[in-house]
Amino acid sequence: MLAAFPLLLLSALNSNAQKKVDPDSLVNEAKKTEVWEPVPAVVTPGKTNADAPSDAIILFNGKNTNAFQKTDGTAIGWKIDQLGILNVVKGSGYIQTKEVFGSCQLHIEWRTPLAIAGSGQTRGNSGIFLMGRYELQVLDSYNNPTYPNGQAGSIYKQFIPLVNASRKPGEWQTYDIIFTAPQFFSDGTLQQPAYITVLHNGILVQNHVAIKGNTEWIGAAAYKAHNAKEPLAIQDHGLDGGNPDSFRNIWIRPL
Ligand code: MG
Repeated sequence: MLAAFPLLLLSALNSNAQKKVDPDSLVNEAKKTEVWEPVPAVVTPGKTNADAPSDAIILFNGKNTNAFQKTDGTAIGWKIDQLGILNVVKGSGYIQTKEVFGSCQLHIEWRTPLAIAGSGQTRGNSGIFLMGRYELQVLDSYNNPTYPNGQAGSIYKQFIPLVNASRKPGEWQTYDIIFTAPQFFSDGTLQQPAYITVLHNGILVQNHVAIKGNTEWIGAAAYKAHNAKEPLAIQDHGLDGGNPDSFRNIWIRPL
């Protein structure tokens, strides 16, 4: 900005060549569009972009699952292994955070099984449910055709990902999500939809799309009013055989 200033000043002086221009007055004019507050908080980045920054809430770091419970409030059935990885236990149900969140930045790492079982939607299916109801699909979409609005990186049944950024089965994958919570009028009607931006393995797959409502397997998505903050849930896709996905390194920054 400083380097550009003399040119700007010169240009301003030239354009006012016929007039007498006080440089101090120009500086004062320029100051009128300087914004000094608020000063952004200093945040120390992690060693890699996957490491939690200093102000993140750690939801899972391999040590315990204290941040999570089942949707009925009881202890989760998913298990941490010796490597500190959280594994879905088939049929044990969704897990969700005890803390509630609205707009957020979320980082989550996931892995579908190395041994391929099932196909299409029954191959590594899980899901990140923002506010417990808006699903970013988790699926093994490496050479696994399915309906594109249900593949990895899709907003399930709503938005096809811009690209298929999937890694191979058994490899760790990342989602970096920027989510803006929806807003409702006091009568429960929608004031502003939710928005979501998603990087899958560092690659943009959803660019600020307006979510259409609650994720539905059957029928059209529709909004139903809910709290300004709700738990973050992760899907156990149930009794299908090919979905024992794994998770690690989950952190969130409320916005
Ligand atoms: Mg799913």
